[in-house]
Amino acid sequence: MLTSVLAVSAAAQAAAVGPRFYGDPPDDHHAWAVHDGHRPQPKAVTPGTFSTADQAGRPPSDAVVLFDGTDLSKWQGDKGAPAPWLVKEGFMEVLPGSGQIRTRETFGDCQLHLEFATPRQVEGEGQGRGNSGVFLMGQLEIQVLDSYQNVTYADGHVGAYYGINPPLALPVRPPGEWQVYDIVFRRPIYKDGQVVDPGYITVFLNGVLVQDHTPLEGPGGHMGRTKPGPFPAKGPLSLQDHGNPTRFRNIWYRELPPRPAEGGTDGWLTPEAAMAKRQETAAMLREQAAKLADPANPVPEMFGWFESLVYAPDPGAQARAEQLAAAYVQGLKSLAGESLAAKRDEVRQVRDVFRYLARFKYLPESFPPKVAVEQLIREQGWDQRRR
Ligand code: MG
Repeated sequence: MLTSVLAVSAAAQAAAVGPRFYGDPPDDHHAWAVHDGHRPQPKAVTPGTFSTADQAGRPPSDAVVLFDGTDLSKWQGDKGAPAPWLVKEGFMEVLPGSGQIRTRETFGDCQLHLEFATPRQVEGEGQGRGNSGVFLMGQLEIQVLDSYQNVTYADGHVGAYYGINPPLALPVRPPGEWQVYDIVFRRPIYKDGQVVDPGYITVFLNGVLVQDHTPLEGPGGHMGRTKPGPFPAKGPLSLQDHGNPTRFRNIWYRELPPRPAEGGTDGWLTPEAAMAKRQETAAMLREQAAKLADPANPVPEMFGWFESLVYAPDPGAQARAEQLAAAYVQGLKSLAGESLAAKRDEVRQVRDVFRYLARFKYLPESFPPKVAVEQLIREQGWDQRRR
């Protein structure tokens, strides 16, 4: 019973959900054809809802919720002590002097959402107004500050990658009002001491872009310039206690898929990575093709072997595919009248596949079965429109 369930699942996996022999094939830097029917479907996510001034929205279905307004169980203070900040009426509030808090769980690349409100009662100026901060992986700070009609150094405003890059704009709300951060964070990737990807930070503040894929230059910080360097694989999210009772609500993140430099198979790949994934797809298609063997109907198996060649060459697969093609043409020759006419659409489909394979040099234009089906289609007038 279990075996049959697995078999169905494997077959379902192998079945293309989009066109085959259609777009430009995989190449040195792409594991997939254009419009590849075998390319994995994006996962379904139920979107959340937007927040209002009074009410936090609902996170999307795949989000990891770090704070839902009820408790700080996912957070800790210094040295692992319980997080000392206040929780009331659906938000947390910095308890000045109690120190920063950080998440118990650690994570790396993410889409992070959080909302904050600086104190309604304005005290201080410059960096002293509603200062807090969001520390990605406990390291680089995306500043939280009451920048509403408040002058300070540009790389210290809300929306700044603190000490490194000012926000592109200041789309701020007055003190006391809830403001929204949506952050996309990609950590630096190093291999053998060499930077492969510097890492990036993209930030929207209240829906307005304030950091545009800004390359990382280390953690940043007060007064000192920092240098780019590797990050650990994972780290906590930290929130700063800068002595102001700033509030937070609705904190969640979504893990991001790996980039090509980390084994991701979408995007511009190295030739080695592209070929590794192509080989994997080719092996899956060959396994599937072998199961489709049917002397009464060789077309599905033939397509399977030919399709595998689009992903990776293999002399055995090529020979089997060509053998099936020759047998198919041989079979057509024994047909006449109604039984041949019934093959019209199938033969035209086979011809189109052969043409695709010849166009991209998997077969020569002179491949005898291709020449034979083209000739048959001409003789039968199968390309002419039916009246
Ligand atoms: Mg700060």
